[in-house]
Amino acid sequence: MTTATDNITAKPLVKSSAESIRRSLAAWWQINARDLPWRFGRTTPWGVLVSEVMSQQTQMSRVVPYWQTWMQVWPDAAALADATTAEVITAWGRLGYPRRALRLQECARVVRDQYDDQLPRTYDELTGLPGIGDYTASAVLSFAFGKRIAVIDTNIRRVLSRVFLGVESLGGAARPAERELAARVLPAHDAQSVTWNQSVMELGAVVCTAKQPLCETCPVSAQCAFLAAGRPGLGERRTRPRQRFAGTDRQVRGMVLDALRKLPQGKSVLDRARIESLWNDHVQLDQCLASLDDDGLIEILPDGGVCLPR
Ligand code: SF4
Repeated sequence: MTTATDNITAKPLVKSSAESIRRSLAAWWQINARDLPWRFGRTTPWGVLVSEVMSQQTQMSRVVPYWQTWMQVWPDAAALADATTAEVITAWGRLGYPRRALRLQECARVVRDQYDDQLPRTYDELTGLPGIGDYTASAVLSFAFGKRIAVIDTNIRRVLSRVFLGVESLGGAARPAERELAARVLPAHDAQSVTWNQSVMELGAVVCTAKQPLCETCPVSAQCAFLAAGRPGLGERRTRPRQRFAGTDRQVRGMVLDALRKLPQGKSVLDRARIESLWNDHVQLDQCLASLDDDGLIEILPDGGVCLPR
């Protein structure tokens, strides 16, 4: 099926329109950018990378206290590389998807051992690091190193599709046509491209949200094709399906890790009776324990107790 996003190459963008949107967004960004501690050159490239890994699938406002504590304890890759796995999982707290923490530590060890504790500055080297994909590599190149590169995440895809094409973006992986659109509207100058990436992403996070975009206060409302078209199909094509949480393996896995993190000082093992008190469905519980063990997030002891990896 051919879609509006597939057809964008047939609709040349008017350069002046992209330029005027860029100016509107840059002015809005100057006044409205959230004062997050990893922004505005106040941290190292490593600190930017940590913020990006933590922000995947977790709201930035929730990330701030975790990031601040993390960077105080482990300010660079070498420090994180030397931490124990149990310390890393404990510090990850309730950020969710804790395998990200283990991948981040793997990444830290490669940066320490192969790059003299300095993040590499090329796309290929960054995407070669454990756990670093296209989005994180692009974000680090743009936000930490000031390089001109299109950053493509869910928020940016949604905003670009609405503003320039007048349609909702589709879910799933970014399509070649979406990447082409992002590249075509990216400002030519390095500094402008960084502000563009940040401001489009920020607009998608706080104004042009998936379900209830605040068009009446939007800085590009006068130039937005989606608003001009009457916001067709608003919210119908959710870029990320709502995920049920209650009763899922994710919830059970989180409960087990939470109980391990909260063990009193000097105690490191949850015994079998305590584990079984966490969740009534013991078949599901055991499956979750096995998957946590497979992921390297816990160790299962011979007597059925569990502990964080030592
Ligand atoms: S006018 Fe509305 S739909 Fe268009 S970019 Fe702004 S918030 Fe999004």
